[in-house]
Amino acid sequence: MLILTHPAFLDHDTGPGHPESPSRLQAVLQAIQAFQSVHPVEIIDAPRASREALLRIHLASYLEELEQRFPEQGRAWLDADTKISPGSREAAWRAAGAVQCATEQLLAGKDRRAFCAVRPPGHHAEPDRAMGFCLFNNVAVGAAAALAAGLERVSIVDFDVHHGNGTARMFRNEPRVQYGSFFEHPFYPGRELEPGENDVFVPLSAGTDGEQYRRIFSEQVEPALAAFQPELIFISAGFDAHAGDPLAHLALEDNDYAWLTESIVAAANASARGRIVSVLEGGYNPANLRSTTLAHLQALIL
Ligand SMILES: [Zn+2]
Repeated sequence: MLILTHPAFLDHDTGPGHPESPSRLQAVLQAIQAFQSVHPVEIIDAPRASREALLRIHLASYLEELEQRFPEQGRAWLDADTKISPGSREAAWRAAGAVQCATEQLLAGKDRRAFCAVRPPGHHAEPDRAMGFCLFNNVAVGAAAALAAGLERVSIVDFDVHHGNGTARMFRNEPRVQYGSFFEHPFYPGRELEPGENDVFVPLSAGTDGEQYRRIFSEQVEPALAAFQPELIFISAGFDAHAGDPLAHLALEDNDYAWLTESIVAAANASARGRIVSVLEGGYNPANLRSTTLAHLQALIL
């Protein structure tokens, strides 16, 4: 198992009171430290994404527009939720680069699992816009890199509590990518999107608990993964469906994330030679994030 992260992710400074804060990543890094004391995994510095990798999913005009908007000092808003600072440019390029690099490493046979401890998150970013705390769609950069390397079936399992509108839009007409998204509904981002032919969209009511979630996952996602037979699985690992999360209203606990991860590991072992790239998305209670991430990592390495 590989872990990719970078100090630049702490310099993406969203300012006081913003939920997508550096303290989230600090909690995740504490989990990695605790994990590493038991499992001596390799931690590598996330490189910057290549421009070519970003252009597989984002428009060149968006890259140029974004370049102009990074402030030299202070902070700027990209939309009502998405705030950036001078350090955000480096963070965004390395967050996408972490997933590109992890994908390349796994396809080269270096490892079977990777966890990308990155921010800003990515799954709301669309081809032509930043959205919902996200600048580049990190997981989509990885999936597109896998297709460019010749894979024919890639699945993205997104258990972040929000629907990944960006990922959905990027791959809706791409039959080689299966996108499974579990999300609270009605809720942000509130965009009605039709799933592509292999996709599984699962809206969940506020209050859904771990038992209900597990049942729905077993009934809908496990058979879809078994039918699609992905050669590589990505996880959009948002931990904001946790009962303690301040932004959403589902009621998962740490052991539910362990269960979910084990289920995805079983699917990867069945068709993908065990290959999983897990990418941090949301999760806004730093006090929970440490234990939840640890539960995820402990299941991911099995
Ligand atoms: Zn989220």
